[in-house]
Amino acid sequence: MHRLYENEDITVFWDSDKCRHAKVCVHQSPTVFNKDKRPWIDIGGAPTAQIWQTVSQCPSGALTCVYNHDVRIVFDEGRRCSLALSGDTEIGECCYDETPDSWTIVHTGVRSEYEGKGIAKRLVFKVTEEAEKRKLSVVPVCTYAMKVLG
Ligand code: SF4
Repeated sequence: MHRLYENEDITVFWDSDKCRHAKVCVHQSPTVFNKDKRPWIDIGGAPTAQIWQTVSQCPSGALTCVYNHDVRIVFDEGRRCSLALSGDTEIGECCYDETPDSWTIVHTGVRSEYEGKGIAKRLVFKVTEEAEKRKLSVVPVCTYAMKVLG
């Protein structure tokens, strides 16, 4: 399972396959990370600096985070993609093809001036999260998505 949690400043990623359930996050920031709640991460439960610090202590790498750099990620089902927006300008996308039971990620791209900010990972996780909500599997074909999704 791949999830992303966003506030104004940062995006937190969670990869359930990597989570060892060591609960470092739960002990350090219980108002944010609570395994008994759904969703189990409340990104508004603590200041950004505290969340960043807690995520950095995750021993497995299941939790990671990036700054948003004023770039929003939206999902456009009609176009079969997630989009990265800076203001109203599209600066990246992650596109997929559909089959009845899966989405195949075929392309992920971000304008060169926005590379290195974690935007492509946010795009891939957005598509994956939307697929998993629909109980569809994800097949990464594009090399970047293959790398991010392991
Ligand atoms: S600290 Fe990391 S490995 Fe431990 S429960 Fe939280 S997400 Fe999972």
